[in-house]
Amino acid sequence: MVRETRDQVDWNVLTSPWLDVVGLNATASTSSPLDTLKSASSLRCIVAGSPLDLFAAHRYLLTLLYWKADAAGGLSTMRGALLKGELPQAIVQAIEDESHRFWLFDEEAPFLQDPSIRDKKPKSAGSLFSEIASGSNVSHFFHSEDRNVRLCANCVAVGLLRLVPWSQSGGRGFSPSVHNAPPIVTMAEGENLAITLGLNLVPLGGNAGTARWTGHFTPSNPKWPVPYLEAMTWNPRRIFLSRADTQGVCWRCGRFGVAVVGPIVYEKNDSTKKRADKKDFEWNEPAAFYGPAKPYTPMKSTDEAHASNGADLKWLESVESAPKSAVIESNPGHRGWRLIVPSTNPANNKTFDHRQMVMESVSVDAIKAELRVTKSARPRDTLDGWQQPKRDYAALGAERFVRTAVKLLAPTDWLDLSSAAYREIHESAAAFDVLSGLMWPLRGKVNWLPSRQAAWLTLKVMAAVPVRARTLQSNAPFDPLRLLPKRQPDERRNGRTVSSPYPVAFPRGRRLEAELRVSLDKNMRRRKPEAVDWTSLCYGLSQLMD
Ligand SMILES: [Zn+2]
Repeated sequence: MVRETRDQVDWNVLTSPWLDVVGLNATASTSSPLDTLKSASSLRCIVAGSPLDLFAAHRYLLTLLYWKADAAGGLSTMRGALLKGELPQAIVQAIEDESHRFWLFDEEAPFLQDPSIRDKKPKSAGSLFSEIASGSNVSHFFHSEDRNVRLCANCVAVGLLRLVPWSQSGGRGFSPSVHNAPPIVTMAEGENLAITLGLNLVPLGGNAGTARWTGHFTPSNPKWPVPYLEAMTWNPRRIFLSRADTQGVCWRCGRFGVAVVGPIVYEKNDSTKKRADKKDFEWNEPAAFYGPAKPYTPMKSTDEAHASNGADLKWLESVESAPKSAVIESNPGHRGWRLIVPSTNPANNKTFDHRQMVMESVSVDAIKAELRVTKSARPRDTLDGWQQPKRDYAALGAERFVRTAVKLLAPTDWLDLSSAAYREIHESAAAFDVLSGLMWPLRGKVNWLPSRQAAWLTLKVMAAVPVRARTLQSNAPFDPLRLLPKRQPDERRNGRTVSSPYPVAFPRGRRLEAELRVSLDKNMRRRKPEAVDWTSLCYGLSQLMD
């Protein structure tokens, strides 16, 4: 039973230590965002295992600087100081004065949460992370009961800070962030963190607006250009950290004996859906790339095949004439860049293959050198590294085996084989006798006989079909192996056949037998079942199972 101890685990996203940083002397430490800003000149960089978290941490620090820029004499003055490696003390003080806004468990104004939904049914704390299984988001390596997932305060802070840059749509009305699905972004990097912040703190047009650190986020005027502080604190979710415990294990980072949070209230925010006229919100994320044709739709990576060979960045080859990023435009000639490429599929709201590239330059030549775009029209049969076995001379052994079985086996033999369904060779004495009675006489006389396992499985599934289908026909069109899931099964979506980028492992063991049986059964139930190509099945299994 989880005790509600919110007040005992209180924690501040500005002043509690949770950011991993590396000093100029290469020592690693964990620091609060406020201390990180104070010592930005003596820190090399922020580090994070995920490029998404790295960008979210920078976006948060930059938002704080944009927010309080006036305290340092305005944005351009502060940028000038940062580029010299100095962080004006006045701005650190101005930010510190606001530290009461960053408590995670404040009763009235908890950071990036909406206390007005505190009584809604809680969901998995893993909802904050697309890589943690929760609800219908299940394409992951480990699974758990949603109600059991706990996150430490550090990880909750990371999850909340991901909301602005990286929220993606999630079905049932969960809208993406202000710039739509996670965009490809770039960061300029300098010799120390102060310079890095200065490089990325680029001039922004339009109104500053108001930073929204708490409550139900609603755009001040959805039809107008979004003020930049509003865009940088845009919250497409309504969240409340309802339950916490003083001791527990964090499911994300593995720390134990720490204060943990979960389940949490995690709701959609209807106010951040598209504008009533369906147009995009008027906002340009300074780190993202925008082309002239769609001025408010940033460049994205949405196709796994393109992500795997770099084709999702091919448009960058013409960066000087095509989509532009404010960060690149504001730092001409700068050397030292990081490109963060989140890959999300808008069709099913799934996430795959996030990656980052560290580059000296974002010139056309430098990018061309990085991108090794290959034409990989991957043949469908090889998607999981498996070639549909070609029928060559070696299939003659399989053909001879199947032909002999069809010719010699009596109805009682097929009955024995039928009752050996899903059993191993040694688990059914009667069926084993049938198999060895067939195989032994052929050994020595016939080359390229199928393996014992392949022969066993072939006979068992042959026994499962009506006698009339257990015949050997030349050019029989139906081979159940062809229908089994490969790495990319086709999906029917909106009446169209599209290839799903989500892997389905080729089945093994009993699952393979089950898949073959289902496939054969479906064929037999058709009004005009197709003749089964038993030789290809037997030969293919022989290739696959050994
Ligand atoms: Zn954690």
